Amino acid sequence: MSDARTPRALPMVVPEPGLPERVTIYEVGPRDGLQNEAAVVPVAVKAELVRRLVAAGLPVVETTSFVHPRWVPQLADAAELLAELGELSVPAPVLVPNERGLDRALEAGVRHVAVFASATQTFAERNLASSLEGQLAMFESVVTRALDAGLDVRAYVSMCFGDPWEGAVPLEQVVRVGQQLLDLGTTQLSLGDTIGVGTAGHVGALLDAFGEAGTGPERLALHFHDTYGQALANVHAGLRHGVTTFDASAGGLGGCPYAESATGNLATEDLVWFLDGLGIEHGVDLDAVVATTAWMARELGKPAASAVARALGA
Ligand code: MG
Repeated sequence: MSDARTPRALPMVVPEPGLPERVTIYEVGPRDGLQNEAAVVPVAVKAELVRRLVAAGLPVVETTSFVHPRWVPQLADAAELLAELGELSVPAPVLVPNERGLDRALEAGVRHVAVFASATQTFAERNLASSLEGQLAMFESVVTRALDAGLDVRAYVSMCFGDPWEGAVPLEQVVRVGQQLLDLGTTQLSLGDTIGVGTAGHVGALLDAFGEAGTGPERLALHFHDTYGQALANVHAGLRHGVTTFDASAGGLGGCPYAESATGNLATEDLVWFLDGLGIEHGVDLDAVVATTAWMARELGKPAASAVARALGA
């Protein structure tokens, strides 16, 4: 870590014409990160992680998931964590896989929820015990009830850029699933590159396909994994298409269980550094995120999967 006595490198700020002036960094570390870490983190440590991320300026922090503890034991303490956190100053969405999950979220007083769909048949079968079409029926009741209760609902679509069992995923299939979820009344669609095989041209082509179907970048978020080192190139492609919400995970928490690599989510600090270089506003304090990453790496007993954290000696 740098301190007042140790000057550290900063990116030179050189804006690129035509890019958005401001973006939202949607922090997923406590949920998507920790659910994919082998270690089960104590609830007090999770609460401190969330509080540190909020203090670092993250404008939204997805905190946990009400998935059945049998499937994700790492997040079995969801209700306990939310009680411990109390009211936060920023939206703190939770994942709800089904109606039972929504019941638990409502009991906990949650205001923002997210559902998690698949762009492919195989992943829908394996992850949701459903089918590509069947998942919609499943989400329809969850989303409708959540909206009726006045909640904000985000929808994730996983495997948008490739599937480990099916290989390539047709653009029109991703658009069809995404449009169906938006038609249910979800406010934002997060397009996930679950195994990290997406590349910049592919990102542009998918965003163009959504545009042709009538969905502009203002309703889309991009969720990249850095498995093959492409995440920031893909963010750049998204910015050039007008996308202004990007998911990221402090320290790159959360290796992907479906990709043979320890590297999963795009690290928040890597995204912050990149946006800083372009002069794009995001409101997040780089030093505070890096300090949080360094602290979390000590808690997990392993180094962070983040180039910026490494470069800054965290
Ligand atoms: Mg992820």
